[in-house]
Amino acid sequence: MTAEGELTSELVRPQLSEVLPDFAEELARLLRAEGEHQLADDIGAQRFYGWCTCTDDFCQSFRTAPEPNGAYGPGHRSIPLLPERHDQSSMSSMAR
Ligand SMILES: [Zn+2]
Repeated sequence: MTAEGELTSELVRPQLSEVLPDFAEELARLLRAEGEHQLADDIGAQRFYGWCTCTDDFCQSFRTAPEPNGAYGPGHRSIPLLPERHDQSSMSSMAR
């Protein structure tokens, strides 16, 4: 993909804060609780690239970047987050 193509696709992808505003806020709050302030500041501006294309019923994953060609590679890490609430409003904001 050319640099121009990447720029174009960035512009047409909606921001996470537009697609899932409640979830983006919750995610930022939980990231701050883990000391991930830079990620928390940036999360709402991440581009929504679409839902995971696996067919698992329970999967609610989505992408904020193009799918890698192979493994995620060096620099990839996971951050476990602990939601404070598991009530209806919290869960519905996370559902598709
Ligand atoms: Zn999935």
